[in-house]
Amino acid sequence: MSADKPTILVTGGAGYIGSHAVLALKNAGYGVVILDNLAYGHQDIVEQALQVEFIVGDTSDRTLLDNLFATHKIDAVMHFSAYAYVGESVTDPAKYYRNNVIGTITLLEAMLAADVKKFVFSSTCATYGVPQKIPLTEDHPQNPINPYGATKLMVERILSDFDAAYDFKSVCFRYFNAAGADPNGLLGEDHNPETHLIPLVLFAALGKRDSIAIFGTDYDTPDGTCIRDYIHVNDLASAHILGLEYLLNGGKSDFFNLGNGGGFSVKEVIETARQVTGKEIKAVECDRRPGDPPALVGSSEKAIKTLGWSPEYPDIKNIISHAWQWHQKRHNS
Ligand code: UDP
Repeated sequence: MSADKPTILVTGGAGYIGSHAVLALKNAGYGVVILDNLAYGHQDIVEQALQVEFIVGDTSDRTLLDNLFATHKIDAVMHFSAYAYVGESVTDPAKYYRNNVIGTITLLEAMLAADVKKFVFSSTCATYGVPQKIPLTEDHPQNPINPYGATKLMVERILSDFDAAYDFKSVCFRYFNAAGADPNGLLGEDHNPETHLIPLVLFAALGKRDSIAIFGTDYDTPDGTCIRDYIHVNDLASAHILGLEYLLNGGKSDFFNLGNGGGFSVKEVIETARQVTGKEIKAVECDRRPGDPPALVGSSEKAIKTLGWSPEYPDIKNIISHAWQWHQKRHNS
């Protein structure tokens, strides 16, 4: 840890995207303190791969937060901790509003009390709802169709109001489909339960499941399956560093899409996984999953122009092969 560089509090730093951001911060010489309640994060990953100060706790614990800010000189916060299962947010919205909105307000109030006013926030393309045009740009109307997206949009609005009232500066990143893993094999995705396409396809390749379900083959897309914009988790992490530096250098509050500007269908992802793994991977055509738009692709021109972001791993083959390297290690050892 460098003494010269700022220290960043990373909430959700034991989770998938947060852990990759912690590694990127560490590699860039920043001091890092992780706050994670371990509801979904992994202590072993923090201990083995990250080796930074780790506080187990919740963003809704104001006493813990006040203590944390009193005992550490925190310069900015990256906020990843959130519940993120869209389906569960529909059946248990209370859990989502309580954690993702109320937990975040508690964190923001503790930051204000400690005079820490720079915040990088994990938002999502789910704040847009059903796309009216593709690729989605940041000025697209935000009409989320599930509570998960609604909680993230509420926080975006809260941040805008906090800026007007308290001069609180934030960068919101609206991610498209986060995928892949640290190219050096130190970190990766480990959700329980897992619902995402790429890890589930790779579980089929590993023999952890018999097949992969294709949710819908009658969409208005070239091969009838849904198209998504997959973005490498390391490219998300590098955008967070740029967003942080933008704020530390006095940048105004802003919001940015993070995607590759191109999409791949479910069938294309499965075919690429077959090539990468050399395994057959049985696919079973199933009904549509409720709430899935046919295509979600984002333009990231704004992040490229304003922040100088340049995704290093836009190739879906790279994304899947890094994920494959990680899952083989995580599940075969
Ligand atoms: N999908 C699928 N089978 C699965 C999981 C996902 O066909 O077992 C599809 C899903 O319907 C969507 C795409 O893969 O069109 C990406 O889904 P994922 O859950 O990974 O991300 P989302 O786009 O929902 O955030």
